[in-house]
Order: sequence, then C-alpha cells, then structure tokens
Amino acid sequence: MAGSCGAGQAAARRGQAAPGPRSARDGAEGQESQASGLPEYVKIVEVGPRDGLQNEKVIVPTDIKIELINRLSKTGLPAIEVTSFVSSKWVPQMADHKEVMRGIERHPGVQYPVLTPNLKGFHSAIAAGATEVSVFGAASESFSKMNINCSIEESIEKFEEVAKSARNMNIPVRGYVSCALGCPYEGDITPAKVAEVSKRLYSMGCYEISLGDTIGVGTPGSMKRMLEAVMKEIPLSALAVHCHDTYGQALANILTAIQMGVAVVDSSVAGLGGCPYAKGATGNVATEDVIYMLNGLGINTGVNLYTVMEAGNFICTALNKKTNSKVAQASFNTGTIK
Ligand SMILES: [Zn+2]
Repeated sequence: MAGSCGAGQAAARRGQAAPGPRSARDGAEGQESQASGLPEYVKIVEVGPRDGLQNEKVIVPTDIKIELINRLSKTGLPAIEVTSFVSSKWVPQMADHKEVMRGIERHPGVQYPVLTPNLKGFHSAIAAGATEVSVFGAASESFSKMNINCSIEESIEKFEEVAKSARNMNIPVRGYVSCALGCPYEGDITPAKVAEVSKRLYSMGCYEISLGDTIGVGTPGSMKRMLEAVMKEIPLSALAVHCHDTYGQALANILTAIQMGVAVVDSSVAGLGGCPYAKGATGNVATEDVIYMLNGLGINTGVNLYTVMEAGNFICTALNKKTNSKVAQASFNTGTIK
C-alpha cells in the first residue's frame, strides 16, 4: 500500500497553503471558487483541545494538552479553542484550565477562545489571560436541563452577565447553539427554535454564532432548512457551523453550509471527541478531512494540512487511539508518521 500512502501524502502536501498573502496559485483557485459561488476563504475554528478532549475518557496530562495546542498554533489555524473554565466537579478533564491557558505559547494572529459557562468561569478565564470567550446555549429545552442544569432562559440570563462583563472589558464572545439539528431527548428541533436562540445570543453581543449538530443526526436537507431560518435573523458573516459525524453526514452538511455562504467551520484535529449519546460513534468532524475537502474546492484556509495531521498523530499516540480522520488514515496507513 506504499503507493496509496504516498499519493495521500502528496495530496496532503499539495494542500499546503501558507498563512498570510496568497500565492498566485491560490489566487487562481480563489477565482475558481468565487466563480462557483463558494466563499474564497473559510475560517477553521479548531475545537479539539476543548470539545474534543472533553469527551475523551482518559484524563490527558496538562503538558500533553499544552504541546497539542502549541503544535496546532504552528499549522496556520486562525482560532484554537483552548479549554473550558467550568467547575472541575462537572468536567474533570478541564480541571487544569488555568495551567493550560497560562502554559501555551500564543502566536500572533491566532485567537485562543475558552468556554465560560458563567461569570465565575469568565473571571477565572480573564485572570488566566484569556482574551476571547465562548458561551454555550442549546436549542433544546431538555438538553439544556440535562447538560447545563438549567432552562434555555436561565442559561441565557447567565450568558447575559458574561456578555455584559465581556463588553466592559472589550473581550469578544462567541456563542454556541447546540442541538441545532436534533436533540438526544426531544428528537427534531424546529429551525424556528434555533433561529430564536441564535438571535438572543447575537443580540446580547456574541460576534459569531456557531450552530452545532451536537449529535450528528443532521443531513444536507435539515442543515439547509435550519440555515434558511437562522439567516433571516442573523447576518451570514456571523454564522459558523459545528458538525459531528455520528451518521457520516458531517462533510456533506459542511459543504451545504458553505454553498449557502457560511465561511466559518468548527472542526477537531483527528476527529477528537466521542459522542456521549451514541455508543461507539465518532464525534466532531476531523479538521484534516475538512481542510482536504476545502483544498479540493480551491477554498483558501491558510492551514497546512500536513502539519495538522502531524499534530493529530501526536495526540492519538498520546491517547493510544486511532485517528478518526479518514484523510490521516489514508495518508498514514500505518497509523504513525515515520
Ligand atoms: Zn463538537
């Protein structure tokens, strides 16, 4: 299989695009993608160190988390979600949030948001040096109660406190809406409900709303219907999609969103993170797979695919698990980079 391995690596290397000014070749690709109605540039928000690792059962040592983020910072990724300032009682994997936040090397031009579910988390995040935060709401009442122990309304009131403090300190806030395409307890979620919660978060000052298919049940059809509803309330430039691959639909759903003009995509290196609601299912879409698809479409991401695969290999080796990225599997069919 040396031939296919080599071909995969070559494809990965072809996809390398240095951050910064685009080359003449990238320019040609950009024109091509513009001509086809796709965005010229898509921003990738890497969520592996937080959303990904949070769902890993084994507690990952702090120095491994820091090394992972440092490696990701050198790939050209424009945003890396670092950790969550949530109580360690609820999420033991994120108990070292202060150490991780203080320990990473911050690269100029890279955003390092952290999740802050309440004012207490927000203040500890700022004390640890955070310069951007995220809040996490749900479009499903049952999911909100089960996951964050309060109603949608109560959660929004807490976020309002965070958003107000953040505004006073000039700290940008990103908003997540989970269960945007389905809920493990309620099943279908109406596009109108997603639009309503998204609008609340946007109105309180979230600069971007990341629409999450938390359980990965969405299809290009439901993604399109949901986005059509949300786009009536929120400018397209403020929307991101966050897809899980539980039912194998993540890339198709992302492509649908991009074709509708969404230009921000969340993804997780090596597809880190399981799905607590579907046993054995994969979780977040892999960053490597998203970049490979975008490279093929001629869309610039500024991210070097090969170095993301190396970072993925690093964390999979540390976790002693196989990567969930199809691109990494195809490129390094032995499972390790030699
Ligand atoms: Zn996720």
